[in-house]
Amino acid sequence: MTVSSELKTVAVRHQNNAEIRLESIGGLGANLAGKMLAEAGVLRMGLNGWNAASYGSEKKGTPVKSYVRLTPPDVQIRGANPIEEPDVVGVFHEALFKTQNCIAGLKTDGILVVNTTKTPEQIRKESGLHTGTVVCVDAMGISVEEKTRVNTAMLGALCRVVPILDPDKVRDVIRDTFQGKYPGLTEANIRTFDRGYAEVTVQEFPPEAGEIPQPFVRPVSDFGYQTQNPGGIINTAGNSVLKDMSASRQGFLPDLNLAECIHCGNCDQVCPDMCFVWEPKENEKGRTFMFLQGIDYQYCKGCLKCVDVCPTSALTQLREEDLYAEEHSVKHDFPIIVG
Ligand code: SF4
Ligand code: SF4
Repeated sequence: MTVSSELKTVAVRHQNNAEIRLESIGGLGANLAGKMLAEAGVLRMGLNGWNAASYGSEKKGTPVKSYVRLTPPDVQIRGANPIEEPDVVGVFHEALFKTQNCIAGLKTDGILVVNTTKTPEQIRKESGLHTGTVVCVDAMGISVEEKTRVNTAMLGALCRVVPILDPDKVRDVIRDTFQGKYPGLTEANIRTFDRGYAEVTVQEFPPEAGEIPQPFVRPVSDFGYQTQNPGGIINTAGNSVLKDMSASRQGFLPDLNLAECIHCGNCDQVCPDMCFVWEPKENEKGRTFMFLQGIDYQYCKGCLKCVDVCPTSALTQLREEDLYAEEHSVKHDFPIIVG
């Protein structure tokens, strides 16, 4: 645990109200985390509060945003619009920095809380943050050890640095929420919350004179209802070749040990995204068979179905480390079609 004097400075600055934006992917519990924060604020702390979430197809791995506004009782909340200039951003999955502008609109003295094993300085560079406070917590590591999800660890870290949040009240809401739905997970989630609160690393990067906030830029989709081709024609055939599914992985990927592989093809049968790369080769009897070469992690969304069906120990579940996928990928040689 690192408790710095900066933490107290942060606390004083952001004590009156908080606009919090949670950046996540489906399956990590950000939507529930936003609901629990707002419930704790309104029903337990006597604050005014508002919460909403935005997500696409509501499936695991797709980007999710959850918004929470909290103000003192004498300050009315008049907007129900998505939070574009947050005081606090919570990033549940650091791979999102590759695909989303997670810090868009974050105030110059804002707080960025990230689920990561990296240092605040590394996260500052990765996120492109100029100034503000970076709070790092290994929420994934905590949740793996406690057999929970990252959301309650992230709530703990948020309560540590956003003083309008009373950790005791948020803990009470977590207890009530899990007691009602999954009583067997209640104590594990309380421990996860407490560890998230305790195991933060904080570093402040003070704003320089004249520093302006990261501008908020609304993401624009290439194809929407106004720009869709007539008849829904896709004019870039084979464009799924260019897809990068790495941001859909929830902290784990399959690790392949070719020395243990019997080339049975079970993994290939269950993989939804054709991640396995094969090559025809002659076996010891001179017959041509397909031999597994490796995994193209660009397409791997980390579902781990392949690990479940592997009859040997060739495939095992591995906690994803930075650059592991890039360094261990065996690339497909699909022709790239540009249309
Ligand atoms: S975890 Fe395995 S089955 Fe799932 S997408 Fe990745 S390679 Fe395919
Ligand atoms: S399931 Fe396991 S043994 Fe079979 S081909 Fe895949 S990695 Fe090899």
